[in-house]
Amino acid sequence: MAPSRKFFVGGNWKMNGRKNNLGELINTLNAAKVPADTEVVCAPPTAYIDFARQKLDHKIAVAAQNCYKVANGAFTGEISPGMIKDCGATWVVLGHSERRHADAGNGRVRTLVSLSLLLLPQGIDATWSSFNGRQGSVGHRHSFPRETAGYLLPVHPSTCDLCPTDNVKDWGKVVLAYEPVWAIGTGKTATPQQAQEVHEKLRGWLKSNISDAVAQSTRIIYGGSVTGATCKELASQPDVDGFLVGGASLKPEFVDIINAKQ
Ligand code: PGA
Repeated sequence: MAPSRKFFVGGNWKMNGRKNNLGELINTLNAAKVPADTEVVCAPPTAYIDFARQKLDHKIAVAAQNCYKVANGAFTGEISPGMIKDCGATWVVLGHSERRHADAGNGRVRTLVSLSLLLLPQGIDATWSSFNGRQGSVGHRHSFPRETAGYLLPVHPSTCDLCPTDNVKDWGKVVLAYEPVWAIGTGKTATPQQAQEVHEKLRGWLKSNISDAVAQSTRIIYGGSVTGATCKELASQPDVDGFLVGGASLKPEFVDIINAKQ
């Protein structure tokens, strides 16, 4: 991994926990060693963003798991970027495959950047699968197509405001997560070689479609059943700049994942 890219570990708590057990997890994280060259972000359920921000040590940032694109209004059940910031969260997970049934991403990235909230868009593989009409039936073979464009449909001009022709220039605020849908919550992790192959293609796409500087500086992280046991070898790949962790982020082994590069 290039030294210019700070190792990034995100914990996606999804819809799990209550104040008592999340409090215990937070105590473990607060006591943990977080290396200076590693950035750690935890994404609690919306209801606990404020709680998590108040309890977590500031060596760990807080993310929302989703957000809507406008500041206020008649959008029952949504949460706005301004509300997220107000609760002390500085990142948003956007476009997770578990949210895609409900969300359209257009407009959200631009709004977040303009509000200086940092982003964590991801779910590239899931987009590829819907592009190919195979949503829900992505096998290993289909998760690694040859056409690089397939992975990057979110940046296609007609479907996503991350596209290079748009006004979003601040790629420094974006972390891309590659998560093969067959690996999410299944206990099946991509091999380090498989992850590296896709990450390299994603970086290649950034280079040809955005710029070499953006390709070199954008962190591309892997997600999908990452554990304390698998993290070190995955982290040793040159284009794997960190992880987005679901299940294991609720366990003490998350500390091992945070320290995967040590
Ligand atoms: P998992 O989830 O680590 O439980 O597979 C990853 C994710 O969905 O972000």
